[in-house]
Amino acid sequence: MRDFSEDTSALALNTATLGHNLDGYGAGWPLERVIDTCASHGFGGIVFWRREIGTNAIEIGNRVRAAGMHVTGLCRTPYLVGSGRPDAWFDETRGSIDMAAALGTTVLTVVTGGTEPETKGTIETKKVLAERLARVSDYAAAGGVRLALEPLNPMYGGNRTCLMTVRDALNVCEMVGHDALGIAVDVYHVWWDSNLKESCKAAGSRIIGYHLCDWLENTSDMLLDRGMMGDGVADLKAIRDAVESAGYAGACEVEIFSSDRWWKARPDRVLRTIADRFKTVC
Ligand code: ZN
Repeated sequence: MRDFSEDTSALALNTATLGHNLDGYGAGWPLERVIDTCASHGFGGIVFWRREIGTNAIEIGNRVRAAGMHVTGLCRTPYLVGSGRPDAWFDETRGSIDMAAALGTTVLTVVTGGTEPETKGTIETKKVLAERLARVSDYAAAGGVRLALEPLNPMYGGNRTCLMTVRDALNVCEMVGHDALGIAVDVYHVWWDSNLKESCKAAGSRIIGYHLCDWLENTSDMLLDRGMMGDGVADLKAIRDAVESAGYAGACEVEIFSSDRWWKARPDRVLRTIADRFKTVC
């Protein structure tokens, strides 16, 4: 495993950790201030949400690189399946690929959306998902962007995802068989999976993202009560060992949705805490 005790170059901030993924949350820092403060704390990368970028993708990407960091990823495509899928999913997905390319990142996260209308379970939905991913994979590859399928904790089944394990995501990658497809492994979603190491090994170079937070022992909200690394019960070293044993050597992206705690803290304190925890408990 990589030694992070003196090295934060692999550390990346997902701006959702500062509440940038939802209206009305976070401290409202402009992106320039977020970028500069991340750089001052030794972060190596930043992951943005589409809602922050607007038409400024090229400028923001250049701003990050000028600060000595990388744009590690972009969140995320619209839902591709389920009743929450927008009618314009195809154009919107291509637009999000264009945005990722303009930012200068190679990774665009995919949260799939839930079970297709008129179906039950997830098997039929995965077939539809594979067809739709096949329709956008060449476009992504042409833009130099890979689509990171993110399996979500099973409690998000129904309306947000049809992929609940790394194995599920790998199966869909193999159904499509396109190099543009990869997998994002998020501690919050996989910490409970006793087959994680085997699934990651099977996924190998398909793993193109690793997301950090913690699972709080007494979590109070399914969406907005993620923990800071070290404050919960996830075995962070074992999970990182699973992805790194599979060959992953990329960024470790901190993604903490925490409406009552970290979104209310001063962003510079949040970023300093992340850097400290990254070196000591991750
Ligand atoms: Zn994630």
